[in-house]
Amino acid sequence: MANQLPKTMQAMVMHRAGEPLRLEELPMPSPGPGQLLIKVAACGVCRTDLHIIDGELTRPKLPLVLGHEIVGHVAGIGEGVAGFKEGDRVGVPWLGHTDGTCPYCLMGRENLCDNPGFTGYDINGGYAEFTVADHEYCFHLPDGYSDAEAAPLLCAGLIGYRTLKLAGEFPKRLGIYGFGAAAHIIAQVAVGQGAEVYALTRPGDGAAQDFARRLGAVWAGGSDEAPSEPLDAALIFAPVGGLIPVALKAVRKGGTVVSGGIHMSEIPAFSYDLLWEERVLKSVANLTRADAEEFLALAPTIPVRTSVEPMPLAEANDALQRLRDGKLEGAAVLIP
Ligand SMILES: [Zn+2]
Ligand SMILES: [Zn+2]
Repeated sequence: MANQLPKTMQAMVMHRAGEPLRLEELPMPSPGPGQLLIKVAACGVCRTDLHIIDGELTRPKLPLVLGHEIVGHVAGIGEGVAGFKEGDRVGVPWLGHTDGTCPYCLMGRENLCDNPGFTGYDINGGYAEFTVADHEYCFHLPDGYSDAEAAPLLCAGLIGYRTLKLAGEFPKRLGIYGFGAAAHIIAQVAVGQGAEVYALTRPGDGAAQDFARRLGAVWAGGSDEAPSEPLDAALIFAPVGGLIPVALKAVRKGGTVVSGGIHMSEIPAFSYDLLWEERVLKSVANLTRADAEEFLALAPTIPVRTSVEPMPLAEANDALQRLRDGKLEGAAVLIP
């Protein structure tokens, strides 16, 4: 098998923040101990990729192959790999490595590891024809999803799911601010579990509001409007700091606001009244492998359907621009 592989592969490469990605021919990666060589079938485009390109996440390895919603097939196996064989379909998420020894790993919070490796940030990711990944951070994927449909499950789904979990005791009335890739997945999970979903989009974005209603939201409107009922919890997926006080105002006494993004614009000052009465504000960082196992088992039982727009790998810059402009319904997925 190995000698049938090409010697080079195409990838979209980031050299510097603020510059477009470049389509380049790179040497074929080879799997080290514990690693899988994966022939990429689809890779989702995530808002985090925009934060990396825009320099808002400041420590990417450079040059870098972005992409942490990777779906592919095992094309080679390093020494010491168990549980995977050539041809298996696998998914690779943002969490690509942890040290297993820091206080956070030892307390079961590996998402907060002191020495993490993130896919498409510290480790080359999936905007490429091939990639390598530590098999301990790769997952078998549920049947019933095409490669492109499975891609958004791996970050929008996983991080979205962790965001929902951190909203605490099951919220009956759940607000979701920012109705993109994560929201469209998590709205289905919440509706499937019996919640009433209130979708809050960019003001005037009727298309996103219609999309939310089609996915089962009982109410959809602009984030400048108050939802029709006080919320038990609110999830924020838009990278807009101004939504924090807006969401706190929308939740009832004791309600929870969870911010699911890795970066957000500055949060404006707000009155203590908005936090008073035991409202809770928290952020989500990364994911644990347990989150991945739970969510990938749960998604087909709802069943979560993903809305994707497949695009050729070479059009990654266009896909990113459309995400930036809010012109995607669901998620862009690059197909090498
Ligand atoms: Zn650790
Ligand atoms: Zn992501």
